[in-house]
Amino acid sequence: MIPVSQAIEIVLANVRCLDVESVPLNESIGRIVAENIIADTDLPPFDRAQMDGYAVRAADVANTPTQLKIVGESAAGAGWHREMNAGEAVRIMTGAPVPVGADAVQQVELTRESNGAGVVEILEPVEAGRSIVRRANEIRSGETVLRAGEDINAQTIATLASFGYANVKVGRRPRIAVMATGSELVDIDEKPGRDQIRDSNNYTIEAYAKLAGATVERLPLAGDDPEQLKQQMSAAVERCDVLVTSGGVSMGVYDLTKGAFKELGAEIFFERVALRPGKPTVFGRIGKTLIFGLPGNPVSVATTFNLFVRAALRAMQGATETSLPEMTAVLARDVKGSQDRESFLPAVLRTDEKGTLLVEPLKWSGSSDFVSFARATALINVPVDAKLSSGSIVRAFRLPG
Ligand code: AMP
Ligand code: MG
Repeated sequence: MIPVSQAIEIVLANVRCLDVESVPLNESIGRIVAENIIADTDLPPFDRAQMDGYAVRAADVANTPTQLKIVGESAAGAGWHREMNAGEAVRIMTGAPVPVGADAVQQVELTRESNGAGVVEILEPVEAGRSIVRRANEIRSGETVLRAGEDINAQTIATLASFGYANVKVGRRPRIAVMATGSELVDIDEKPGRDQIRDSNNYTIEAYAKLAGATVERLPLAGDDPEQLKQQMSAAVERCDVLVTSGGVSMGVYDLTKGAFKELGAEIFFERVALRPGKPTVFGRIGKTLIFGLPGNPVSVATTFNLFVRAALRAMQGATETSLPEMTAVLARDVKGSQDRESFLPAVLRTDEKGTLLVEPLKWSGSSDFVSFARATALINVPVDAKLSSGSIVRAFRLPG
């Protein structure tokens, strides 16, 4: 058995980055940016009004009420590009350029315009700089705003759009094949017969893999039959970057996955991790294709996928951050670690009345209990042999999705 951290290092050491491709901005969500994103303009590009009102000189309105002559109008997209002099005001709209000579914007609510007279009464003083966002206050042209390796998400889209990235370079999506193994499995559109259950692992893996940016090919369910396993595996490694199987990696007579990998000439990098749940996880390579043999139990699948496969998929796309988002939280219930393995236990994150982030281990009946797992939002890390009592500070990893 190797420690979890070492297993992750081995995974990352064996990943190679996939090619870079260019995709339209609106298709880039969930991808990893593969170029530094540079601002091609100052933002704002000009001194910008932040309110509807009147551009004024603060000194002119130090004593109010006072009247100013309206000399023009500056609207968003249609500015007033002359110099404003003492005693003058320019009607201005949010988003419009502030004219040279003005140093503040008084909001319209604190003004009164006499209809048609070309004069505005300013009712309150306004200090210099008020309601103006200065040119380049947010970013200066030429600065780097996103680095290669960062995630493209809904928060980053405005930045990419604003600097003209109609197309953006991203890491190619890894192609993964998923294959559930086990003679007890039927697909989800079937009614399980005697001794049978529906496959859920293929769907769990597909869901997480898509969240990690991969494209997924679901292979036919494989029985515990060495020839069928090998035949499907060898076809899959021909066309995929990653093959992820579930089941058949424990010590039973019908646990044939590892044997099939080996007979296909796989190089196995690890096959037992000091992890609960997920001890018998296998990682290796056949040709250029990475292979993960995940355990069969559905909660073990979710855990091992997110610790190992997700890291690989993200690294292949060039991601800088490959582990689940980590946080510290206050444990809401006592938990006991395993004697010889590090635990990653399904848990729910919530805040108490004081706003403290709590993490509460799910009451579950083991790694087969995917119904309890359905509520999980995080995994709690429990070190080997630790007894953690309620109230202690623990590490938690937020689950995707
Ligand atoms: P195994 O690792 O093959 O011994 O499987 C461990 C447990 O997980 C057994 O109870 C299996 O029936 C169950 N299991 C294996 N594969 C799947 C799957 N694809 N979907 C749901 N449960 C599974
Ligand atoms: Mg099995």
